[in-house]
Amino acid sequence: MEAAFRRLWDELAPIGRDERTGGYLRYAFTEPEERLRDWFRGQAAARGMPVETDGNGNLFAWWGDPAAGDAVLTGSHFDSVPQGGAYDGPLGIVSAFLAVDELRQQGVTPTRPLGVVAFAEEEGGRFGVPCLGSRLLTGALDPARAAALTDRDGVCLADAFGGVPAGARPDLVARFGAFVELHVEQGRALVEQDAAVAVASVIWPHGRWRLDFTGEGNHAGTTRMADRRDPMLTFAHTVLAANRQARLHGAHATVGRVRVEPNATNAIPSQVTGWLDARAAEPETLASLVAEVRAEAVERAHADGTGLTLTEESATPLVGFDAGLTGRLRALLDVPVLPTGAGHDAGVLAGHVPTAMLFVRNPTGVSHSPAETATDADCAAGVVALARVLEELTCR
Ligand SMILES: [Zn+2]
Repeated sequence: MEAAFRRLWDELAPIGRDERTGGYLRYAFTEPEERLRDWFRGQAAARGMPVETDGNGNLFAWWGDPAAGDAVLTGSHFDSVPQGGAYDGPLGIVSAFLAVDELRQQGVTPTRPLGVVAFAEEEGGRFGVPCLGSRLLTGALDPARAAALTDRDGVCLADAFGGVPAGARPDLVARFGAFVELHVEQGRALVEQDAAVAVASVIWPHGRWRLDFTGEGNHAGTTRMADRRDPMLTFAHTVLAANRQARLHGAHATVGRVRVEPNATNAIPSQVTGWLDARAAEPETLASLVAEVRAEAVERAHADGTGLTLTEESATPLVGFDAGLTGRLRALLDVPVLPTGAGHDAGVLAGHVPTAMLFVRNPTGVSHSPAETATDADCAAGVVALARVLEELTCR
């Protein structure tokens, strides 16, 4: 299995890799992601699995007729964050195809349809809304709103995608009886517990907020310090407040993206826009964290003579995975059970279909970075675990 994994993995490795950093640039509906989608179609064809799309950019490859219903779905996403790692997403799709091979080698014939899925724009790395494909499919995101989203270059989703997405497809979702997403772990819990694979328990509630700070653009050399209305100061204070509040709340807060106008060395900025990503174990903690950050930002804006608006761009509630399904997987595999602070398409699907997740150990614990990794042996263990799960679900 290790050799089979390495063979398939090496086919994907060069696609979208920045040779300078080793990071990946696989944004939704760009050339590297299209190549990955072509690869998906090729893998499906090689296994005699017809591919269908849902009008939202999501791809499905079927073993058995999905119209029969009660289908078992597995897979993940191809797209990456800017300079992301190789494993976040693609590992779940490669493992899905290898699990199909494993079942066939064992002579297993599923009595339920088995689908491999590649969801579109899971990271929100291009258009800002994470799990875009799965949200459209399940009706959690309005297709007209999605169509109007723009990327950093001002390209709207409708142009990148080639039209307005189809939106909710209850006819397709009704066919799914279960969804299992295998994913690289985005922390070090499995290193600490000395296990290759885990089953997920919950996804922390999380969200993204845009912070627009406005001030007065002016000359860096001639404007007296006392006369300035500098939004960078308010922004900087808010970043520190987010970090402190996250520590106080036992939560996570990050400002990883900022845009400055006019972005000139010798100019006081007129506008600074930052994005806050916040996550916590309980929804009340998350709400309190964001409220405290907002309060500190408002207070500081008052002192700086700047303006501030805080806009929620996305919010994802606490996701508890299906207890029955998770319990079944846990009993079958005898592996640890872990919560996660990361969002996934599985979190979106969980509101509609009994859903579970498997994690594969990541020795660095680092994710969304070129340092993200997994050993071939652990990836092979992940495939074997997934195949056992799929056999259990499709044959019993
Ligand atoms: Zn992912």
